Amino acid sequence: MALPVLAVASELYPLIKTGGLADAAGALPAALAGQGVAVRTLIPGYPKVLAALGAARTVLEWPELYGAPVRVLEGRAAGLDLLVLDAPHLFDRPGGPYVAPDGAEWGDNAIRFAALGRAAARVADALGFAAVHAHDWQAGLVPAYLRFAPRPIPCLFTIHNLAYQGKFDASLFPLLGLPAQAMSTQGLEYFGAIGFLKSGLWYADAINTVSPSYAEEILTPEGGMGLDGLLRGRSGDLHGILNGLDTTDWDPKTDPHLAARFSASAPAGRAANKAALQARLGLAADPAAPLFAFIGRLAWQKGADLLLAAAHVPMQGGAQLAMLGSGEPGLEQACRSFAAMHPGRAGAFIGFDEGLARLVYAGCDALVVPSRFEPCGLAQLAALRYGAPPIVARTGGLADTVIDTNHAALAAGCGTGVQVAPGSAEALAAGLRRALALYADSAVWRGMRRRAMATDVSWGPSAGRYAAILKGLAARHG
Ligand code: ADP
Repeated sequence: MALPVLAVASELYPLIKTGGLADAAGALPAALAGQGVAVRTLIPGYPKVLAALGAARTVLEWPELYGAPVRVLEGRAAGLDLLVLDAPHLFDRPGGPYVAPDGAEWGDNAIRFAALGRAAARVADALGFAAVHAHDWQAGLVPAYLRFAPRPIPCLFTIHNLAYQGKFDASLFPLLGLPAQAMSTQGLEYFGAIGFLKSGLWYADAINTVSPSYAEEILTPEGGMGLDGLLRGRSGDLHGILNGLDTTDWDPKTDPHLAARFSASAPAGRAANKAALQARLGLAADPAAPLFAFIGRLAWQKGADLLLAAAHVPMQGGAQLAMLGSGEPGLEQACRSFAAMHPGRAGAFIGFDEGLARLVYAGCDALVVPSRFEPCGLAQLAALRYGAPPIVARTGGLADTVIDTNHAALAAGCGTGVQVAPGSAEALAAGLRRALALYADSAVWRGMRRRAMATDVSWGPSAGRYAAILKGLAARHG
């Protein structure tokens, strides 16, 4: 019989997404089904989730949790087996999963995601799950609630990004419903505050992050963001497993968002996507101009500022630049201004648009991913799959998934993109120059694109590793 595992996540593609966490949490259940693991995912009852939920039945009820009754619904949506925390006073709100429509964090996020953790522990026990898989700080208290539950259930905690730590004022502790002993350095306490992520790392039975390189980087003071000491202490329980893509959903042969479908053996359709992308972003209709693109959150981590500082290279080299992103107002404005200064040569779409993202992956010649750090990164995986050799910073999962097309790689016939030193506009400029030179030799670029598209970016290799950890945890506790 398949091992019953409860996943706990605050976003889940295609129901609700702000980034790669949603993609990973949304794709893992199908990937693990083939490995003898049956995943059901507990997710907050945001309006979009409740709207998508088909026929549902109530499996648990509380007369009161943080001021109002709540219940857990069981149902299916978008092919996913869901357990939905229906708590309208916490989750039935406009805006994003963490922020109000004006972009400000909800003031009660500690309570909202403590409720998710409490519900997870009760659901895991009541429905007889053998193990729990908690994702990121929003599910950071799950391992603590499980540890202090009457029947301990083992928990794997996955870090998708160590930069988001869920740090809240210590005065909130009495509201969490945990024993007093949990409020110590050997528990939730984190530099005088409550750390949801820190708590997850402390109480989880095993820890995972989303690439082998990031698993090494977070053990260092530079990459550990204050948690490297704790992580070094737990390095025996720390794994680094690459994210994959749901290659059924991310498939240029069938993607409905594209202007034309294509494949590695028949890539001609890329040209129609390039033309459609140029039209959509106000770029000159020029099939020959190399078209570089950026897709991502406009945050310091993602290095859009580095790209703008290095973008004179493509501009002077006769190339075009397409930017799709949203986030910090200063960076949004900088992208808009750059596009305005280079009419027909640079274009920016500020906002979150899944369909346009697919068109960018399919229509650009190369995706630029200049992150200062990157736990795994899904954008470069999508770019590989859609035939846009990625130009990436050599960090985290970017370093693990893209093969630099240097002299030796070319001689061996194995480059899939370009790697540059992270955090430097000069290094990025040099990488962009190198990419232009590679692009100028169409046989070389065709080879890079073919190898990029042949790269296995599926969950296949990683699903087995997740399954082995979860089965091992269940066996140790069983
Ligand atoms: P992170 O989770 O740190 O934001 P990832 O690279 O892991 O970064 O995942 C980002 C995901 O979000 C990818 O699927 C990417 O295509 C998508 N994405 C990012 N920004 C946008 C946007 N503005 N519009 C549409 N999709 C976006």
